[in-house]
Amino acid sequence: MIDSSGRNIEYLRLSLTQRCTLRCAYCRAAEGICPKKDELGAAVFERLVRMLAKLGIKKVRLTGGEPMLRHDLLEIISRICAIEGILEVTMTTNAQHLAGKAAALKKAGLSRLNISIDSLQKERYHELTGGGDVERVLLGIDEALAAGLVPLKLNTVLMRGINDDEIDTLMLLAKDRPLDIRFIELMPMGNGDCSKLRIESSEVLKTRPWLIPISPRYISQPSVDYTAAGFKGRIGFISPVTNSFCENCNRVRITSDGLLRPCLGDDNEISLLDALKGTDEELLEIMRSAIFNKPMGNTFCGRGLALEKNMSKIGG
Ligand code: SAM
Repeated sequence: MIDSSGRNIEYLRLSLTQRCTLRCAYCRAAEGICPKKDELGAAVFERLVRMLAKLGIKKVRLTGGEPMLRHDLLEIISRICAIEGILEVTMTTNAQHLAGKAAALKKAGLSRLNISIDSLQKERYHELTGGGDVERVLLGIDEALAAGLVPLKLNTVLMRGINDDEIDTLMLLAKDRPLDIRFIELMPMGNGDCSKLRIESSEVLKTRPWLIPISPRYISQPSVDYTAAGFKGRIGFISPVTNSFCENCNRVRITSDGLLRPCLGDDNEISLLDALKGTDEELLEIMRSAIFNKPMGNTFCGRGLALEKNMSKIGG
């Protein structure tokens, strides 16, 4: 549907859980995680997406927390894929439990994956993620490519003095593999001021004149893309703090505990829990009004204000 700013809202980020296998410092909430027992069930997710499809949502990205912690993940994927009007279901994962499961995800209907990877160094990755194993991520990446979960996109949050010495090594992941590696500016969420850690995309680009600008895959994509001579893949920069893409934003979010969040950068959330007890028409009306009033302009761009919640509670 078209919102009050004239944007066509057709993309849902659906958080399946706030639980995670990892403990990345910039992402984890210190407290107040929605417990497993309060997470919405597969049938409720299906109903919510069915309603949103009536309002024009065409694309759904499953996220979290870590969506692969859901035991009913394959059921959720196939239920959502079967909804009339939904053209694509994708997922963002840390890939700790992807190896051995990529083909089943594809079979259930998943189109493609985004995989988070902040370091290629075994010990550093382990430390940054509070116990993760980067070897599993690399296995997951190759398995996702083999299963046809493409275009495969990797996400790296750059942090000064923490992983910025790996920028070029991380870019090399896109040399021989047909994947996108995207560098994301650290957003001020939940954990307060992170401006000293943040590396602006322009800083990385300035020192790498050999990057070749290329067209975006689609107009509403948040990344600005490049490639390099001899590379099979793309190198993208996502700059939510220094270069807002609000005017092209086409997405809304639903959290695992039933809150509709029209804008990542605005703390306003509308609970759908009461409406879920009512009729489809009532639910539809609340969704329609929330989407129509989606704010223009996030709180971090230009102002640098921190959001109340961490990404793990909202759904990245
Ligand atoms: N567990 C899955 C994963 O790790 O990909 C999905 C959820 S995670 C919240 C999704 C993405 O959000 C990750 O790539 C993570 O790095 C990113 N993220 C979390 N907090 C962020 C922040 N403050 N700034 C930028 N990206 C953030």
